[in-house]
Amino acid sequence: MKTIGLLGGMSWESTTLYYRLLNEGVKAALGGLHSADILMHSVDFAVIAELQNANQWEEAGTLLAKAAKGLERAGADFMLIGTNTMHIVAPQIADAIRIPLLHIADATADAIKPKGIKKVGLLATRFTMEKDFYKGHLQDHHGIETIVPDAEDRTTVHRIIYEELCLGHLSSQSRDTYVQIIDKLAQAGAECIILGCTEIGLLVDERHTTVPLLDTASLHAEAAVKLATAQI
Ligand code: GLU
Repeated sequence: MKTIGLLGGMSWESTTLYYRLLNEGVKAALGGLHSADILMHSVDFAVIAELQNANQWEEAGTLLAKAAKGLERAGADFMLIGTNTMHIVAPQIADAIRIPLLHIADATADAIKPKGIKKVGLLATRFTMEKDFYKGHLQDHHGIETIVPDAEDRTTVHRIIYEELCLGHLSSQSRDTYVQIIDKLAQAGAECIILGCTEIGLLVDERHTTVPLLDTASLHAEAAVKLATAQI
């Protein structure tokens, strides 16, 4: 089995989910007492969030690239960045290491394409919804068109992520707000909704809406399990 390198802590609320999903996945794949072989560097998210808000992406990338190099030196066979947003600096991290980086948008697209879906709605931080690194990746590498909520709804989705979900607060009022925004995206033509922030799946799942959802944390972990347990 391969050793998974995980850049975590962004936020740790979703890293705990990754940890559970990776172990459950390896157990399901290999049975018995098998569990995932993981090396993790969990960062202080306050530092990352500050750099995000100051638009200091390169500095954040340098910090994460250093952590990734450490995991590579410690024996990781491939790397996961356990957040959609920080894939903004995925090229910087990939350049710093020799082992493969399993991109979260590729893992998500691999689940979308067999369904024949061409147009998706995206709920995420404003960085992920507004910048091109994620929507552009889906379009350029996978031919998938992405639509996002309007400006007011983007502000709401972003605020709930940082002020609630990353702090472990799950409120039914925010869940209802997300479901309303999901409905609007479906009415605007989205065939499914990408939960493009690794904490959103903690708040909303298929029990709360009939619109198909794709949870990026689950899909990323699933792809990592496949790669870790593949017989090569
Ligand atoms: N975990 C979130 C994401 O998937 C947001 C936290 C962050 O900014 O990294 O984008």
